[in-house]
Amino acid sequence: MENRSSINNIRTLFPALNQRVNGKKLVYLDNGATSQKPLSVIELVNEMNSGVNGNIHRAVHELSAKTTSLYEGARDKVKNFINASQREEIIFTAGTTASINLVASSFSQKYLNPGDAVLVSEGEHHSNIVPWQMACDRTGATLRVLPLDDNGCWRLDLLDTLLDSSVKIVSVAHVSNILGVINPIEKVIERAHSLNIPVLIDGAQGIVHSRVDVQKLDCEFYAFSGHKMYGPTGTGVLFGKYHWLEKLPPYLGGGDMIESVSFEKTTYTQPPLKFEAGTPNFIGMAALGAAIDFILQIDTELASKNEKEIVEYVLKEFSAIEGLTLYGQHSQNKIPLFSFTVKGAHPTDLAMLMDKMGVALRSGQMCSEPVMDRFGTESMLRASFAVYNTLEEAKIFILSLKRAIKMLT
Ligand code: PMP
Repeated sequence: MENRSSINNIRTLFPALNQRVNGKKLVYLDNGATSQKPLSVIELVNEMNSGVNGNIHRAVHELSAKTTSLYEGARDKVKNFINASQREEIIFTAGTTASINLVASSFSQKYLNPGDAVLVSEGEHHSNIVPWQMACDRTGATLRVLPLDDNGCWRLDLLDTLLDSSVKIVSVAHVSNILGVINPIEKVIERAHSLNIPVLIDGAQGIVHSRVDVQKLDCEFYAFSGHKMYGPTGTGVLFGKYHWLEKLPPYLGGGDMIESVSFEKTTYTQPPLKFEAGTPNFIGMAALGAAIDFILQIDTELASKNEKEIVEYVLKEFSAIEGLTLYGQHSQNKIPLFSFTVKGAHPTDLAMLMDKMGVALRSGQMCSEPVMDRFGTESMLRASFAVYNTLEEAKIFILSLKRAIKMLT
C-alpha cells in the first residue's frame, strides 16, 4: 500500500505523533509501555461507540449481529496473524496480565500440587512472576528461576539442572521489556517438550517486533496485549492449544461461558467462550482486528531495516557517552528498546528534563524489580521505539540525552 511505503507515511496515520509537548515536537519513545493508535483503529472505535453498538452473541437485532460479526471477525484475524490452527484457540482477554493470570489460575487448580514447580526466568515482567507466585502459594508448589547472565541473556547452561519432572509448566518472555533481548524461546520449548512440560510465552513485547507463528513455535500458550501493538487499551489475547483449553477449568464464571445453569449443576461451554465470561470489550477487540490489518500492511523489510538502523545508531552513540551503562545485550539481537543509567544523573531527573525537550521516555523500576536487583540498580531510563519512529528521532533522543546529562553532571 502506497501509504505505508515510508516511515514518514506511516507516521501520518497516527494523529498522536503530530503534537507538541512542552512546546516541543513530540518524540514518543515509550512504546514498550503503550503504543499510539492509527486512524483506522480510532475511527472504528468511534464508529462503534457512535452507533454500531449492541451486545454481542445475545440478540437477534441488527446492531448485535454487526458487533458480533466484528468481534468474531477479529478472532479470525488474530488466528491468521499468529497462525493458530483453529479460531477456537484464540481467547480474548483484557491484556497480557489477564491472559497469564487466566492460565496461572486455571492450570494451577488442576495441575499444581505440593512438591511441583513452575519455571520462570529472572528477566520476567511482574505479570509473569506474581500470578505464578500466587498459584504456588495456593497449591504448595514452588517457583524456580532461570538466571540471567551479565548481558541479560538466559543461562541456558543451567536449563538442564532446573528442568526436571517436578516442573509442571514453564512461563517465559519472548522479549524482555527491560533488556530488549530476543530470547531463545525455541530452545526452551524444545527442551521442555522433551520432558512433556507445557510452555507459556509472554509475548507482550515479542509480538510487536516479530511475526509470530504459534504452530512453528509449538508453544502451548502465547499471551499478548493489544495496546502495545497499535490496538486499544483493555484488549489482549491468550492463544492456547485447543486440547489444553479443553482440559483447563474455567477462570471467571458468568454469562456466555455456560452451556446450562441450574442451582443443582452448571455445565460450561467449549473454548474459547468458556474463558470469556461476561460482556467482553467487544469494541476494543473489533479495533484490535483493525490494528492487525494495519500491521499486515506494513512493509516488513522497511520496518526491519529501520529498526536495525536505529539499534545500530543508538548502540554506537551509547558506547561514546561517558558513565552510561546499557542493560542487556550490546548486539543486534535485540529489539529497539534500550534501558540504561548514567553515572551521577538520576533516571527520573533525566526523564523529566528530556520530557521538557519533548522526548517521552520511561523511568523507574519498569515493572521488573528482580531485573533491577540482578543489575544492582533501583531505577533505569528506557527508550523504546515503534514502527513509526525514525532515525531522525533517534538522533534527537541522543542529542537531548547529552544535553540533559550535561545539565545534571
Ligand atoms: N509482559 C511484558 C514483557 C510486558 O512488557 C508487559 C507490559 N509492559 C506485560 C507483560 C504486561 O502487559 P499488560 O500491562 O498490557 O497486561
